[in-house]
Amino acid sequence: MLKRCKFIVHYVSKFNVFEQVRYASQILPQFSAEKYNVKRKNFSNVQAADVSYFQSILGNDRVLTDRDEVLPFNIDWIRNCRGQSQVVLKPKTTQEVSEILAYCNKKRLAVCPQGGNTGLVGGSVPVYDEIVINLMLMDKIITLDEISGALVCEAGCVLENLDNYVRGHNLIMPLDLGAKGSCQIGGNVSTNAGGLRLLRYGNLHGSVLGLEAVKADGTVIDCLRSLKKDNTGYHLKHLFIGSEGTLGIVTKVAIHCPVLPKAATLGFFGIKNFENILELYKSAKSSLGEILSAFEMADNLAITQTVKNLNLPNPISDYPFYALVETHGSNEVHDGEKLSNFLNKEMESGLIMDGTVTSDPAKMQTIWNLRESIAASSLVGGYVFKYDVSIPQKHYYDIVPMLKQRLGDKASAVFGYGHIGDGNIHINISVPQYTKEVVSLIEPFIFEEVSKLKGSISAEHGIGFRKPQFIHYSKEPSALGLMRDLKQLMDPNGILNPYKVLPETN
Ligand SMILES: Cc1cc2nc3c(=O)[nH]c(=O)nc-3n(C[C@H](O)[C@H](O)[C@H](O)COP(=O)(O)OP(=O)(O)OC[C@H]3O[C@@H](n4cnc5c(N)ncnc54)[C@H](O)[C@@H]3O)c2cc1C
Repeated sequence: MLKRCKFIVHYVSKFNVFEQVRYASQILPQFSAEKYNVKRKNFSNVQAADVSYFQSILGNDRVLTDRDEVLPFNIDWIRNCRGQSQVVLKPKTTQEVSEILAYCNKKRLAVCPQGGNTGLVGGSVPVYDEIVINLMLMDKIITLDEISGALVCEAGCVLENLDNYVRGHNLIMPLDLGAKGSCQIGGNVSTNAGGLRLLRYGNLHGSVLGLEAVKADGTVIDCLRSLKKDNTGYHLKHLFIGSEGTLGIVTKVAIHCPVLPKAATLGFFGIKNFENILELYKSAKSSLGEILSAFEMADNLAITQTVKNLNLPNPISDYPFYALVETHGSNEVHDGEKLSNFLNKEMESGLIMDGTVTSDPAKMQTIWNLRESIAASSLVGGYVFKYDVSIPQKHYYDIVPMLKQRLGDKASAVFGYGHIGDGNIHINISVPQYTKEVVSLIEPFIFEEVSKLKGSISAEHGIGFRKPQFIHYSKEPSALGLMRDLKQLMDPNGILNPYKVLPETN
């Protein structure tokens, strides 16, 4: 049997980690418009009369214009992008969203929809003076059908709050991600967020049953059905899933919640090399079958840097690679037997060098916390370039050594981790400071390599502000043309999240 490793449980709240890292540096990022040389589009400037109009709909409290209050809504989580908005609106109802958009559309005022502002591609913050429409006050749970598992809620509900709520009814949210304490379900839907358990519960195109969204002209599109089957014409909800606030503002979501697993187990293993991670993944799929709920990997640097930067415990010692294998099932005995057969086999084969397995919720949380904190740990010191690509699994890790070699001592760290079950790797490149020289070494090189491997330049984070000029590496001209047609149809004045997703035509 697998030997239990020295395992100390430390409770580290993810909020501590987030806040500690987020505000580690008080130096304000450069304005995105200057940093990336963006020309302002021909929108109107916000006037005092516009602010008065918004106050007439929302009241003074929900219209922020104070510079200090507005500042956090202008800066993204990674502190790479900074907008120049002077107004943040906090609607509480779909009607208010509709009135705001109808007015902005008529006045040609650009807007930036915003959820929890945890997006990693600069989509959630303005570039110039777009009005921020933050959904945080639309946070009501509307209904939960315990028979079907359909949850209907407002778009501003925080993912973790929803998960806590449905757990009280023997259900779980079908997605889980490191930012769950801050991200909102509307943001998740708008980015088509993937996360840690996509392998088991599928993506949001499958689990979102219906939604309500407001178009640029204020029209409310009501597709808020909670049915699993509804083939009545075009599946319009899909237009809003993953469109990153460029086609409409999502105001309500109906989502299918799977049953809370009665038995859950987590293993954290040390692995000799990347080839063995792939072998272990194959073996886990065949041995664990339907109970496999997550299969994550991280290289040595991803884990050691997180342990060091955030002072977190590593339950096992140093290994070149790590795998995190989770099972969700309904029968502890049956699941335990499957897992121990898998472990015995792979300890014997040498694929698993060492590790720890636990079904104690607190210990599981500590291991998940280590994995989920990798993204935040890389923000400590210097500047970090983050890439989120998907690549056929046999080439999954190739890009990391390639980048290490290309960057040499210009990078202080290059590491990879991610959702190997989905072929989705996150590549982080830490540098002492952002320079154009380093950028030119990484981009478009990384996208060219991903394209050669028939991968996607954005697996789950979206295109946002940072990647439109690279979208052609993953989208054919005909598909891009249709995207433009849809944008023109749904937002003819282009007021919704300009400078994002679609590349400039010239
Ligand atoms: C530590 C950490 C871990 C992460 N892990 C993952 C992961 O595993 N998988 C993953 O997919 N992502 C991950 N992310 C990225 C991010 O959390 C997701 O993209 C998330 O879905 C964004 O939700 P949000 O509410 O913060 O949206 P925001 O960041 O506020 O917005 C994201 C985009 O959606 C738009 N938007 C937001 N709300 C709405 C709305 N109601 N209507 C229309 N448009 C809207 C914004 O304009 C923007 O373009 C992670 C981020 C962090 C910081």
